[in-house]
Amino acid sequence: MSRRRPPRAATLAAAALFALHAPAGGAAAPAPKSCGPDALGVSRTLAFSARGGLAIGFKSYPKTLDLADHEVVLTFDDGPAAGTTAKILDALAAECVKATFFLIGRNARGLPALVRREAAEGHTIAHHSFSHPDMRRLSEAAAKKNIDEGFAADDMAAYGAAASEPRTPFFRYPGFSDTPTLNGWLASRNIAVFGADLWASDWNKMTPQEELDLVMSRLEAAKGGILLLHDIKAETAAMLPQLLREMKRRGFRIVHIRPGDDPPPLRDAPAGWSSETEKIAAGFYAGKPAPRAARRP
Ligand SMILES: [Zn+2]
Repeated sequence: MSRRRPPRAATLAAAALFALHAPAGGAAAPAPKSCGPDALGVSRTLAFSARGGLAIGFKSYPKTLDLADHEVVLTFDDGPAAGTTAKILDALAAECVKATFFLIGRNARGLPALVRREAAEGHTIAHHSFSHPDMRRLSEAAAKKNIDEGFAADDMAAYGAAASEPRTPFFRYPGFSDTPTLNGWLASRNIAVFGADLWASDWNKMTPQEELDLVMSRLEAAKGGILLLHDIKAETAAMLPQLLREMKRRGFRIVHIRPGDDPPPLRDAPAGWSSETEKIAAGFYAGKPAPRAARRP
């Protein structure tokens, strides 16, 4: 397939959907520190392949990772961003926690030092398109181009080189707005599609304390899962140190996901499951405002 064209076209309209961030300053890593038993840390690493296709996260799909009770996969979307991503990385480093960053390629290109820091500190570099468009509003060709340009920009920023396939084959659609055609295309390339099991709703305005309370209540209700946060959000960056402390205090454990060779253990959704994000994406696509609690991630 053709790829690696200069990322000019296609996506200016998408800039209006979400505030992206201009290139800015450096990203000095803090001195490494040892984490004692009081730190949250990483409980285990789960490496898996998406061979033949994989779509996980109960918000969008009827399957998810078969995590144990109180296990959590931390994921951050839309970065990197000046000002907030470094704080997120500081908070993770202070607790020896590893997360997965679903990068916007344009942001990665603008702030490569932050992406290099994410990679150097052992986080997983995953993908969230080049410019965060609603893929359902693009032609199939434009959508594929945007996704591929995101892979390339993220890997260039992280590793200084990009091959024909992303080094970590993990992808999340902007706004969870997938299509069957694109899902099939990603599956044919053995690229995993991530939804989420729970989220902070941090695209809504709230205080860090409100966000902390909301996330903890959802973690307690779901007993863990794939958690979606946004490292471009000041409130999320502000509450993350407390969130990690509170997770430790209440017995949650961090699972770090990585690309691997074998399919992951999966769990089916309970009977009566339906996609929550499909309702959001469909409403957005139809031009109807989504309910406040479920605006687009
Ligand atoms: Zn996003």
